[in-house]
Amino acid sequence: MFVKHICKKITEPENFSRWKKRNKGAGWGGFFKTSEHGELRKCLVEEQLEMCCYCEVMISPEDSHIEHLRPKGIPLYRKDMFLYENLLASCNKKDSCGRLKGRWYEAEMVSPLDENCEKRLTEKALSGTERCTHIPTLLIIN
Ligand SMILES: [Zn+2]
Repeated sequence: MFVKHICKKITEPENFSRWKKRNKGAGWGGFFKTSEHGELRKCLVEEQLEMCCYCEVMISPEDSHIEHLRPKGIPLYRKDMFLYENLLASCNKKDSCGRLKGRWYEAEMVSPLDENCEKRLTEKALSGTERCTHIPTLLIIN
Protein backbone atom coordinates (compact mmCIF):
# COMPACT_ATOMS: atom_id res chain seq x y z
CA MET A 1 0.00 0.00 0.00
CA PHE A 2 1.34 3.40 -0.90
CA VAL A 3 1.11 6.46 1.34
CA LYS A 4 2.43 5.54 4.72
CA HIS A 5 1.69 7.69 7.72
CA ILE A 6 4.43 10.22 8.46
CA CYS A 7 4.60 11.35 12.04
CA LYS A 8 6.42 14.66 12.12
CA LYS A 9 8.33 14.56 15.37
CA ILE A 10 11.54 16.31 14.48
CA THR A 11 11.53 20.05 14.94
CA GLU A 12 12.73 22.20 12.10
CA PRO A 13 16.49 22.76 11.77
CA GLU A 14 17.71 25.82 13.68
CA ASN A 15 19.37 27.23 10.57
CA PHE A 16 16.02 27.12 8.80
CA SER A 17 14.39 29.11 11.64
CA ARG A 18 17.23 31.63 11.52
CA TRP A 19 17.01 31.95 7.73
CA LYS A 20 13.27 32.66 8.00
CA LYS A 21 13.85 35.39 10.59
CA ARG A 22 16.54 37.00 8.47
CA ASN A 23 14.57 36.76 5.22
CA LYS A 24 11.05 37.80 6.11
CA GLY A 25 8.95 38.23 2.99
CA ALA A 26 11.27 36.11 0.82
CA GLY A 27 9.80 33.63 -1.63
CA TRP A 28 10.80 30.03 -2.17
CA GLY A 29 13.10 31.11 -5.01
CA GLY A 30 15.24 33.03 -2.51
CA PHE A 31 15.53 29.95 -0.32
CA PHE A 32 16.03 27.29 -2.99
CA LYS A 33 19.60 25.97 -3.21
CA THR A 34 20.81 27.80 -0.10
CA SER A 35 22.74 25.72 2.43
CA GLU A 36 19.68 25.98 4.71
CA HIS A 37 17.54 24.47 1.93
CA GLY A 38 19.94 21.54 1.70
CA GLU A 39 19.91 21.07 5.46
CA LEU A 40 16.10 21.19 5.58
CA ARG A 41 15.84 18.59 2.82
CA LYS A 42 18.25 16.32 4.68
CA CYS A 43 16.18 16.68 7.86
CA LEU A 44 12.93 15.84 6.04
CA VAL A 45 14.47 12.82 4.30
CA GLU A 46 15.79 11.51 7.63
CA GLU A 47 12.45 12.13 9.34
CA GLN A 48 10.78 9.96 6.70
CA LEU A 49 13.38 7.21 7.01
CA GLU A 50 14.56 7.93 3.45
CA MET A 51 11.21 7.18 1.83
CA CYS A 52 9.20 9.35 -0.54
CA CYS A 53 6.15 10.75 1.31
CA TYR A 54 3.83 9.43 -1.41
CA CYS A 55 5.23 6.36 -3.12
CA GLU A 56 7.78 5.17 -0.54
CA VAL A 57 10.58 4.75 -3.04
CA MET A 58 13.99 5.26 -1.40
CA ILE A 59 15.20 8.86 -1.58
CA SER A 60 18.37 10.63 -0.50
CA PRO A 61 19.04 14.23 0.55
CA GLU A 62 20.83 14.75 -2.78
CA ASP A 63 18.05 13.28 -4.91
CA SER A 64 14.71 14.38 -3.46
CA HIS A 65 12.23 17.21 -3.66
CA ILE A 66 10.87 19.41 -0.86
CA GLU A 67 7.16 18.99 -1.26
CA HIS A 68 4.56 21.50 -0.08
CA LEU A 69 1.52 19.52 0.97
CA ARG A 70 -0.59 22.67 0.75
CA PRO A 71 0.85 24.07 -2.48
CA LYS A 72 2.87 27.28 -2.28
CA GLY A 73 1.53 28.24 -5.74
CA ILE A 74 -2.01 28.71 -4.43
CA PRO A 75 -2.51 32.16 -2.83
CA LEU A 76 -4.57 30.72 0.03
CA TYR A 77 -1.63 28.56 1.12
CA ARG A 78 1.23 30.98 0.53
CA LYS A 79 1.34 31.59 4.28
CA ASP A 80 2.29 27.92 4.77
CA MET A 81 5.23 28.08 2.34
CA PHE A 82 7.84 27.96 5.11
CA LEU A 83 5.80 26.12 7.70
CA TYR A 84 7.70 22.99 8.69
CA GLU A 85 4.48 21.04 9.22
CA ASN A 86 3.59 21.64 5.56
CA LEU A 87 6.88 20.34 4.20
CA LEU A 88 7.63 16.77 3.19
CA ALA A 89 10.28 15.05 1.10
CA SER A 90 9.21 13.33 -2.08
CA CYS A 91 11.03 11.54 -4.85
CA ASN A 92 12.42 13.78 -7.53
CA LYS A 93 10.99 12.28 -10.71
CA LYS A 94 9.34 14.70 -13.13
CA ASP A 95 6.24 12.60 -13.66
CA SER A 96 5.31 11.48 -10.19
CA CYS A 97 4.68 12.48 -6.61
CA GLY A 98 5.63 16.02 -5.54
CA ARG A 99 6.37 17.32 -9.00
CA LEU A 100 3.28 15.78 -10.56
CA LYS A 101 1.04 16.92 -7.72
CA GLY A 102 1.93 20.53 -8.48
CA ARG A 103 -0.83 22.84 -7.30
CA TRP A 104 -3.36 20.13 -6.61
CA TYR A 105 -4.70 20.05 -3.08
CA GLU A 106 -8.04 19.22 -1.54
CA ALA A 107 -8.84 19.29 2.14
CA GLU A 108 -10.36 15.83 1.78
CA MET A 109 -7.39 14.28 0.01
CA VAL A 110 -5.57 11.42 1.69
CA SER A 111 -2.56 13.06 3.28
CA PRO A 112 0.51 11.16 4.47
CA LEU A 113 0.22 13.24 7.67
CA ASP A 114 -3.20 11.76 8.42
CA GLU A 115 -2.64 8.94 10.89
CA ASN A 116 -5.42 6.94 9.22
CA CYS A 117 -4.09 7.53 5.72
CA GLU A 118 -3.54 3.88 4.83
CA LYS A 119 -7.05 2.90 5.93
CA ARG A 120 -8.62 5.94 4.24
CA LEU A 121 -6.80 5.31 0.98
CA THR A 122 -8.00 1.71 0.90
CA GLU A 123 -11.59 2.79 1.57
CA LYS A 124 -11.48 5.50 -1.08
CA ALA A 125 -9.93 3.17 -3.63
CA LEU A 126 -12.54 0.50 -2.95
CA SER A 127 -15.42 2.97 -3.19
CA GLY A 128 -13.92 4.63 -6.27
CA THR A 129 -14.21 8.10 -4.76
CA GLU A 130 -10.55 9.07 -4.82
CA ARG A 131 -9.66 11.19 -7.80
CA CYS A 132 -6.99 9.60 -9.86
CA THR A 133 -6.41 12.09 -12.63
CA HIS A 134 -3.83 14.18 -10.82
CA ILE A 135 -1.69 11.86 -8.75
CA PRO A 136 -1.95 8.35 -10.06
CA THR A 137 0.93 7.24 -7.87
CA LEU A 138 -1.16 7.96 -4.78
CA LEU A 139 -3.73 5.45 -5.85
CA ILE A 140 -1.72 2.44 -6.82
CA ILE A 141 -2.45 -0.36 -4.45
CA ASN A 142 -0.25 -3.40 -4.02
ZN1 LIG B 1 7.48 9.24 -4.92
